[in-house]
Amino acid sequence: MAATSYTGRFAPSPTGPLHAGSLVAALASWLDAKANDGQWLVRIEDIDTPRCVPGADQVILQQLAACGMQPDEQPVYQSQRSSLYQSALDQLITQSQAYPCGCSRQDIEQAIAVSGQQRERHAELVYPGTCRGGLHGEKARSWRFLSTFYPSNRAVAQQIQVQKAPDSIANNILWTDRLLGQQQQNVSTQVGDFVLKRADGLWAYQLAVVVDDAAQGVTHIVRGADLTENTARQILLQRALGLPQAQYLHTPVVLGSNGDKLSKQNGAQALDLQDPLEALAQAGQHLGITCLASNPADWLQQAVAQWIARLGAL
Ligand code: GLU
Repeated sequence: MAATSYTGRFAPSPTGPLHAGSLVAALASWLDAKANDGQWLVRIEDIDTPRCVPGADQVILQQLAACGMQPDEQPVYQSQRSSLYQSALDQLITQSQAYPCGCSRQDIEQAIAVSGQQRERHAELVYPGTCRGGLHGEKARSWRFLSTFYPSNRAVAQQIQVQKAPDSIANNILWTDRLLGQQQQNVSTQVGDFVLKRADGLWAYQLAVVVDDAAQGVTHIVRGADLTENTARQILLQRALGLPQAQYLHTPVVLGSNGDKLSKQNGAQALDLQDPLEALAQAGQHLGITCLASNPADWLQQAVAQWIARLGAL
């Protein structure tokens, strides 16, 4: 790897070809890497195998290439990196920061209903901690992160300045997004003990993404704002695993016809490989970038200059 202090990445899930929304994230991460003389990596996030579409990884790489965006290293595939995720889980188990859980979704919903908690529609379930103290005779289904863990490691505790703080605020994560500014989430109360390894045996996104970003030396993460609320969990995991904290920038999401994030379900079309310039122009517009160019390479060069002017070389 080149001696650079910036490594960025684009991490698509191969659930289909890139569309206008996913190209925005790809372009923004590419521009930010180039604006900072950094490396730009592509990681294929194919751990959620039931959602992956065979061949979509190749289509995505072809689409990126057609738009003039070539990764600086061979893309890595999460499906080939299970041993890294297992080591991280083992480390958390050794540190008493992960525990097996025997609850089904229905068990969790019932426990929440019994506790009288109100839940907003579509809001994620905050795990009520049923299996924290043991499995209650149930079979282990998944593994969860103990989100109220009080850091026993002095260095970690000092780093996050919670040495004397009560448990309840130990996992109140404050972070600064380079575009959105100050962010805050109390993982314990707003998310709860989240899943690291799923009941179906698949690795959870949160664990895999943190392990891979660190293993690949990713320093700067640029991705769609639909992922913003995952960041606190990821920072918490970085701290628990003793990994460096990345810098984050979340780009505005492209909305579909129904007002939700653009996806295949609400009308996203695969990008037309025949007209990459038009695809770049649309993605650029979403990021406030307008270039006049006759080919993708020239377009990208102008776009880097505009990106630097907008954000500064951070
Ligand atoms: N694979 C995720 C997605 O396609 C992105 C993960 C990330 O950028 O952290 O939504």
